[in-house]
Amino acid sequence: MKYSQDIPDLSIIIPIYNEEENIAELSGRLADVLEKLGTFEIIFVDDGSKDESWKIIRDIHEKDSRIKGLGFSRNFGHHTAITAGLDYANGNAVILMDGDLQDIPEEIPRLWKKFNEGYDLVYGIRKEKKDSMFKNISSHIFWWLINSLSGIDIPRNQTLLRIFDRKILNVLKDMRERARFIHGMIAWTGFRTTLQEVEHAPRKHGVSKYNVVKLFRLAFNAITSFSTLPLRLATYFGILSAGIGFFIGLFFIYKKIFLGIPVLGYASIIVAILFMGGIQLLILGVIGEYLGRVYQEVQARPIYIVREELF
Ligand code: UDP
Ligand code: MG
Repeated sequence: MKYSQDIPDLSIIIPIYNEEENIAELSGRLADVLEKLGTFEIIFVDDGSKDESWKIIRDIHEKDSRIKGLGFSRNFGHHTAITAGLDYANGNAVILMDGDLQDIPEEIPRLWKKFNEGYDLVYGIRKEKKDSMFKNISSHIFWWLINSLSGIDIPRNQTLLRIFDRKILNVLKDMRERARFIHGMIAWTGFRTTLQEVEHAPRKHGVSKYNVVKLFRLAFNAITSFSTLPLRLATYFGILSAGIGFFIGLFFIYKKIFLGIPVLGYASIIVAILFMGGIQLLILGVIGEYLGRVYQEVQARPIYIVREELF
């Protein structure tokens, strides 16, 4: 972790994975906007890009030392890159944004104004979504699931663009879990929070770096780190199937004793075995998932590995 002497008003943290076409424009537009607000540092976190991203960050840093860079040894993921940026940030307030120009630099003054009305955290909420249909539907399901399982209120339609106080930064730095879901972690901290509508653009250059596998992993991280409800499923299924079994049993006894009808049952036995077997395997899988998380935490490996710093 790195602490410098002077504390800027703002630290902007931007995760970068193969964004060579976006970095220069983003950094130029950001600097124009931020100069009017106060002193600042921009931290680009290169999450193991395979293109020229790191070279571009280095060139910009050489011309302007307020633009800083962290290069990972390999790809660790979006939320891990943000984590590293948080660890290195020095500012009195922190701004997070994506590096693909979907979060628009010119919207920052609106957030800043709201922030200065006395809030600790201002979320950028997108008015309309400019993503594909698949993306919109999957993100709808994702936020619904997270909000209903986690028990914390994580504002929907939030973009990564947000501004928050050093108080929240300090709490986030203390949260060292390996399964990282930044949106949930920030909501979990509490504090005085408000929403601000912002424009959200379609991706300027390049393609989305999320695929179905990465999205699933994020959803799993999100659910397992904010809810133990899946673990309790075993209890609920158990109560349900024991209840059903009990009443079916009563029904068969009644039939045999009072009506004299013998119970035939090959098919019903097969169905019951398959049903119970399926539920047991499902529950075993859920327990395994949590056990895996515990194992990762116990290993206590570093959350990310920095290859190069430009500070
Ligand atoms: N990103 C990253 N590591 C990854 C994937 C993405 O740092 O493994 C960065 C990416 O460069 C971008 C931001 O995270 O700045 C959001 O990614 P993307 O735009 O691909 O996600 P989407 O907007 O499609 O959800
Ligand atoms: Mg994007």
